[in-house]
Amino acid sequence: MAQQPDPRREQPPVSCPICRKPATESFAPFCSQRCADVDLGRWLGERYVIPGSDPEGDKERDEGGSL
Ligand SMILES: [Zn+2]
Repeated sequence: MAQQPDPRREQPPVSCPICRKPATESFAPFCSQRCADVDLGRWLGERYVIPGSDPEGDKERDEGGSL
């Protein structure tokens, strides 16, 4: 009677955040290795863009082995 889609069997379509093409299982949530690389590059790039004025960055290094 009720036609409810089974979320376990039919996952919602995921579109590649880079080129908006349907993602593939192998490279989800991307459509290809290339787009995955592009996203990774962007992510790393954003970190590099941050200027080296982060006082808390050094602090984190100091207290690393105290549990
Ligand atoms: Zn893509």
